[in-house]
Amino acid sequence: MRFQAAPRPGFREYSFAQTPRKEENSRVDPLSLAQNLLAAGPICDHCLGRRFAGLPGKLANPERGALLRAALGFSHVPEEKCWVCGGVFQRVPVWTEKARELARDYEFQTFLFGVHLCPRLEATEEFLAERFPSPWAEPVRRHLNRALGQAFVELLRREGRDAAVHYARPDVQFLVDIEKGEVQLQVNPVVFYGRYRKLLRGIAQTTWTCPHCRGRGCEVCGGTGKLAATSVEELVLPVFLEATGGTGGNLHGAGREDADARMLGRGRPFLLSVMEPRRRQIDLAWAAEEVRRRSNGAVELLELQLATTELQQKVKAGKFAKRYLARVSFAERVTSEAFSQAVEGLVGEIQQRTPERVRHRRADLVRRRRVFSAQGRLLSPTEAELEITCEAGLYVKELVSGDQGGTQPSLTALLGIPAVVTELDVLDVLDGEGVVNLASEE
Ligand SMILES: [Zn+2]
Ligand SMILES: [Zn+2]
Repeated sequence: MRFQAAPRPGFREYSFAQTPRKEENSRVDPLSLAQNLLAAGPICDHCLGRRFAGLPGKLANPERGALLRAALGFSHVPEEKCWVCGGVFQRVPVWTEKARELARDYEFQTFLFGVHLCPRLEATEEFLAERFPSPWAEPVRRHLNRALGQAFVELLRREGRDAAVHYARPDVQFLVDIEKGEVQLQVNPVVFYGRYRKLLRGIAQTTWTCPHCRGRGCEVCGGTGKLAATSVEELVLPVFLEATGGTGGNLHGAGREDADARMLGRGRPFLLSVMEPRRRQIDLAWAAEEVRRRSNGAVELLELQLATTELQQKVKAGKFAKRYLARVSFAERVTSEAFSQAVEGLVGEIQQRTPERVRHRRADLVRRRRVFSAQGRLLSPTEAELEITCEAGLYVKELVSGDQGGTQPSLTALLGIPAVVTELDVLDVLDGEGVVNLASEE
């Protein structure tokens, strides 16, 4: 369906009779197009120049417009008289001033302007494309965004501040509503990357809301609304909120360990997002020390830095192999021969149905995961230590218990004696550094 523009009475006072129609316009001559535009009505240098933005040369739109006007012998038109924009570019300094005022309390190195065009500008834009088609024309939206960006950089430079336009991930964004003359500020989150070590059991990764009462407090959770007293997130986030002046945030780990498992070694990679931060360059050494101090040494942060796009992708996509240390207890006495044979039998492919304990929140299916290596040490006839290196997504507790046959093989099945994990530590999250990331379908 073709859109048919309604007639616009306001444009009738100008003569469009000489204007070439689109179909006659396979070879446009810039000078005759400019001549037609100038004859059609009062047009400012911004809007005239914008029809020729794609021509070779380094001129900005207003300069190009002024040159064409002079070459064709037309006199200057005050911007507010322009029938295309009505002088919208004159308001750029007002809007950038508003933007500066809005962002006054926020640290930023990068920004981006966007505009919400008014119906009038949208209509003239459409009309121009139809009646004065030009292969070199630039959309008014892009022209305005750039003009705002350049004016803003200039404004900040006069204050001795430095900022640059960033399209993909600006620190702050401004939206100018042309119709209302309003400017809105959006402060984008700051994201930190690090690795956390969790040296105490009973700490969840993020707030573990009680599923029975959904946080209101009940008998199951002892009125706390939570199933773990605290979490890495709850211990880390307040420090960063304090340092950045942000309003909220969250921690996103590259996978997670159970609340009762420690996270040792080099720690687990994570991202920490903070909403509406006032400061972005914070003292990360102070933050790490503060987290350690406030958690009484239960949580340590390593490799803290501002998260690059690569680091964010790494954590979000990351399915990393892990090295675990499990303390195992047996229902009956186990001989060392039987134990070492059973441990050897764990290496290779494991068929694992979603464990019973997580079936309420994960799809119930059978996964295939590899155990790369397994070593065991019998501590007593009924207790052992087991070190396992395995693919991401393998449930180690069920590898030992067998989960009623849901995991095969298992230490329980191989021994013929029920075995359970009594303590679990993650010794390492193997992200790169000599270990292949054995991502698999999930
Ligand atoms: Zn104009
Ligand atoms: Zn509860």
